[in-house]
Amino acid sequence: MTENVVVLGSGYAGAGAIKSVEAEVGNRATITWISDVDHHLVLHEAHRCIRDPSIQQKVRIPIEEIKGSQTKFVQAEVTGLDLDDRTVELSDHDDVSYDYCVVGIGSSTAFFGIDGLERHSHTLKSLRDALDIHDDIKRASKDASRTEPAQVVVGGAGLSGIQSAGEIAVFRDQYRAPIDIHLVEGLDSVFPPGDPEVQGKLTKLLNEKNIEIHTGEFITEVDGETVYIGDEKELDYDVLLWTGGITGREMAASVDLDQDERSHRFQAESTFETSDERVFAIGDTALIEQPSGDGAPPTAQAAWQAAEVVGENISRSIEGRPLRSWTYDDKGTAISVGNSAVASDVVGVPFDTFGGYGAKALKKGIAAKWISQITDYKRAIKAWPDM
Ligand SMILES: Cc1cc2nc3c(=O)[nH]c(=O)nc-3n(C[C@H](O)[C@H](O)[C@H](O)COP(=O)(O)OP(=O)(O)OC[C@H]3O[C@@H](n4cnc5c(N)ncnc54)[C@H](O)[C@@H]3O)c2cc1C
Repeated sequence: MTENVVVLGSGYAGAGAIKSVEAEVGNRATITWISDVDHHLVLHEAHRCIRDPSIQQKVRIPIEEIKGSQTKFVQAEVTGLDLDDRTVELSDHDDVSYDYCVVGIGSSTAFFGIDGLERHSHTLKSLRDALDIHDDIKRASKDASRTEPAQVVVGGAGLSGIQSAGEIAVFRDQYRAPIDIHLVEGLDSVFPPGDPEVQGKLTKLLNEKNIEIHTGEFITEVDGETVYIGDEKELDYDVLLWTGGITGREMAASVDLDQDERSHRFQAESTFETSDERVFAIGDTALIEQPSGDGAPPTAQAAWQAAEVVGENISRSIEGRPLRSWTYDDKGTAISVGNSAVASDVVGVPFDTFGGYGAKALKKGIAAKWISQITDYKRAIKAWPDM
């Protein structure tokens, strides 16, 4: 019997899952890939489009270049999952039925109920977001002067916030644009989960790029002109980017799968099985059980690794064999600050933390490896200079 396998989302989880599902069950299943966009976005390098929108050609990869010819693609927004009927509900499109479904629809930005934040800030989750941030910064800097520079505030100094601030600095320096850049982090240091050595190196790079760091107090409120921090601090802004946290997709709340009550991220076992044995969840959309007790981290690295295994588990499930348990393997971190980078805990490298050309090359290499894995090495080579 031919099984219907449906993969939702075209990020690292979805694009990677399509590759592994095609490899494992492509000869005995009908595969349908559904996403609300017609491309894969290399989201962990999307911040590069803030400095230069033409980089979108490198980070936006058409679906047709990724999927096999037998896989059917449907561009539509997933609005629900009917677990009894085994159908995916879509906006402006007929429902699609499945025997096995892989959910990889990523996450949304969390605003933690901070008054005015959602209304007044940019977020960075899509190509459109990155291009809008570029346009807004360009417009603000045109209206500014050396005596009254444009104020750009980035809230949240995790991977997205630090890397975005770095790109804004490249834009400022490239065009000698009158811009002040502020990076606001509520915890005591930039890159809060990192170790002190990494935090120190990142702080040094951010200072060198004239990015003003504000740590130790949380944003409490935002209005149309000002970001209020703690009890006393205020920053007037022209452009505000918020990258301070993630939560599940809104549609997940209506799906009858076990999920975290607040974030609506789906609970998944280390095999990616959710509370419904025909639905698997990977990437940011899932809280995947790990031996440590914490879920796998919401990173591209974790989504990529999980995607490589999910095809095998669908194959095992079809055959009634026990599923493979997946454990996240942290291979290290590489973080850009404009044209510089810091890397840490990289497997096979004898130093804990390093910068310079080594870290830059590693950052480029990670993006190139991913792009060549889902398309081919020619695309990866083209992308290399801009990563
Ligand atoms: C600026 C930035 C820098 C980052 N840097 C790093 C880094 O250096 N290293 C790292 O490991 N991670 C990094 N991350 C985090 C990483 O990008 C995410 O963890 C990763 O993208 C998660 O992959 P995913 O496939 O689960 O979700 P996504 O990549 O977000 O993909 C979700 C997909 O689902 C689609 N979708 C969403 N909702 C629907 C719907 N209702 N219907 C249909 N389709 C839908 C989306 O269009 C998208 O194609 C960074 C993130 C950002 C924003």
